[in-house]
Amino acid sequence: MWWLDNVLFFIALFAGTGAFAYQVWQISRVIRRGRPFDLNTTTTQKIKNLIVYGILQKKMFKYPPVGVMHILTVAGFFIINLEMIEIIAEALTETKRPFQYVLGEAYPLFIAVLEILAVIVAFAMLFFLFRRLVLRVPRLSHPDLDKKSHLDANMILVAVFFLMVFILLMNAADYALYLKGEHTYAFSTPFLVTSWVAMFMAGMDAGTLHFLERLGWWGHNLLMFALAAYLPRSKHLHMFFSFVNTALTPNMPRGKMLHKPEIKAVIESFLTGTDAGGEQPERFGARDVLDLPWKSILDAFTCTECGRCTAACPANQTGKKLSPRRIMMMTRDRAEDYLRHWRQNGWDAPPPEGSLFDYISEEEINACTTCAACVEECPVNINPLMIILEMRRHIVLDEGRASREWTIMFQNVENNGAPWQFPPTDRDKWARELQTQ
Ligand code: SF4
Ligand code: SF4
Repeated sequence: MWWLDNVLFFIALFAGTGAFAYQVWQISRVIRRGRPFDLNTTTTQKIKNLIVYGILQKKMFKYPPVGVMHILTVAGFFIINLEMIEIIAEALTETKRPFQYVLGEAYPLFIAVLEILAVIVAFAMLFFLFRRLVLRVPRLSHPDLDKKSHLDANMILVAVFFLMVFILLMNAADYALYLKGEHTYAFSTPFLVTSWVAMFMAGMDAGTLHFLERLGWWGHNLLMFALAAYLPRSKHLHMFFSFVNTALTPNMPRGKMLHKPEIKAVIESFLTGTDAGGEQPERFGARDVLDLPWKSILDAFTCTECGRCTAACPANQTGKKLSPRRIMMMTRDRAEDYLRHWRQNGWDAPPPEGSLFDYISEEEINACTTCAACVEECPVNINPLMIILEMRRHIVLDEGRASREWTIMFQNVENNGAPWQFPPTDRDKWARELQTQ
């Protein structure tokens, strides 16, 4: 029944990849509606960032064992998907294991690499689950993460584990069939890992082995397509967006506050009583998610919710309400509000009710020391500080609200040209006093 398998396979393939592509395109529409932002990078820098931070995951190696585990997982996950290409070719050509005719003598090596990586990825998933469920690493059991976040993370880890198990099951059953004389494999070199499992299957009849082989094949494929359809709704979208986000790392010092010439022009005109000239922005800073630079919205969709930023945040460590991870999660939740709203009401509909301040409180953003430790820590080059600063700008410049300490400082800057309570004429008084001592 090759044809039936193939028809069902292609229906599942198009449904899964189509759902993934459609949802990612919709997300990209929301991102592109953010404020303009100049990355100030060249193509060479983008490629370098992609390799260093996206593929080699440089920042993960601050903690070498976790770094090694991650890089093997990512490498494994993507290389294993070469198997997917073989499966598609298998369905198109109705030929079992078509890569063996292309790769020739290198095919057993290809299978060996795939199987080793499948085992590594499967163990890595168990290790990550163990850290979450048994060791309960503090940053992974922080109150930022609700039940949905935990469920999402655990579900994906279990799904990837079974993706690997299914592929190993398929190979083991296939090799057991080979041992029974069903030669779909043209070489004498045994499969490196699954030939050992196949020995335990030697007592099974051919019908059972065919069933197990199909179970592995369909299990892997259906799970893969279901994952593709689900990922855009999950924090695990970072599996794809982290490559885009790291490539698009802005070329500027980490934590640098964006210079806004239009704000300077308006303040100067206010102080001097002259016309600011040019078109004035509708609002300063960010009241809502689309007031943010598009890069901040991409950051929000890329966040892995790993919590390294929050673990390094001095405000969080000293018991303040601020958590940079929560800033990213809430920004994404608000961006998803827009996504849902426009899906239901059309992409020209006015924005949904509410604002980003319904998700992130002033208490949180005012607690930030602007130290940029969160930016430094983030393994995928996300900048939570940019969102905090844009929201602060809005509170201060558009709504005229600031904490008492800031208001005093602003008044001093306005009156004295400096944050202190002394007039400019007294600025060197302390030095004169020192000389007379
Ligand atoms: S910049 Fe703000 S949010 Fe980031 S680590 Fe420092 S205090 Fe925390
Ligand atoms: S912003 Fe970066 S460090 Fe913080 S939770 Fe998200 S991915 Fe992790």
